Amino acid sequence: MNSPGAGRFAPSPSGELHLGNLRTAILAWLFARSTSRSFLLRIEDLDRARAGAEAAQLAELTAVGLDWDAEPVRQSDRLPLYRAAVESLRNADLLYECYCTRRDIAEAATAPHSLPGSYPGTCRTMPASAHPRRHGRPPALRLRSGVTDWTVEDELHGSYTGPVDDLVIVRSDGVPAYNLAVVVDDAAQGIDQVVRGDDLLSSAPRQAYLASLLGITPPQYAHVPLALNREGRRLAKRDGAVTLESLAEKGWTASSVRDLILRSAGLPAGTLAGALEAFHPAEVPREAWIVEPGELS
Ligand code: GLU
Repeated sequence: MNSPGAGRFAPSPSGELHLGNLRTAILAWLFARSTSRSFLLRIEDLDRARAGAEAAQLAELTAVGLDWDAEPVRQSDRLPLYRAAVESLRNADLLYECYCTRRDIAEAATAPHSLPGSYPGTCRTMPASAHPRRHGRPPALRLRSGVTDWTVEDELHGSYTGPVDDLVIVRSDGVPAYNLAVVVDDAAQGIDQVVRGDDLLSSAPRQAYLASLLGITPPQYAHVPLALNREGRRLAKRDGAVTLESLAEKGWTASSVRDLILRSAGLPAGTLAGALEAFHPAEVPREAWIVEPGELS
């Protein structure tokens, strides 16, 4: 039998964690610990990083009782790893330059038979020298994808098939794209269990396909339901007191927030250790957690 690998939580340091983020983190920890895996953190700061957010998020995770098994890694410290993966894709002739703007793509994608939002492949066939926008605009690098869809196995969603297009690997500003970084990082950190919000389920087929091209075994996925507001939209700071700091002003301790989250997942409140004993991946709720403002007064 293979030795157990690791699970992880990978926040973007764009602000304080809210109840939905904390719930995903707690579920990821429970999945990892209940399967004898280690639990790791990764700060995904390639896109949006706000000063001080990383330290605040780590303190929030500690406050609800989570622990992890190594120093958190930070994507901005790992650019050479992504560059090596880009080189291996380039050497396999799997990348091409793309000069399209967002608008080009939006307009082309409205053509009949194309999947909404997917890249129509304009630059895959057009010689770069012929592209009307090649002057004054650095290219992005896209994957020359050999498939149109891919199937992943998910603990909660079963077999899930989703579209795979010629996704961006390096953005036109030179920054590695999220889909590349996540695949490279999960492999480099030995992560074989990815628990995250189900808004990312549709990205999993692309990431698993990219992993296969890089010779990486895709992780076991579990895309867990999000926390939503009463209107059915993803919980956000504008929904009122949904962060530990703002809840503290209303008298909520971090332990009482942890207990609220555990109950929302059908688990006993009190301690994470107790919740861990009662935790069964198959019993994780399949429905979104609707956070009623009244629940938080
Ligand atoms: N950094 C992403 C987020 O905070 C999560 C990506 C992932 O878990 O793969 O939404």
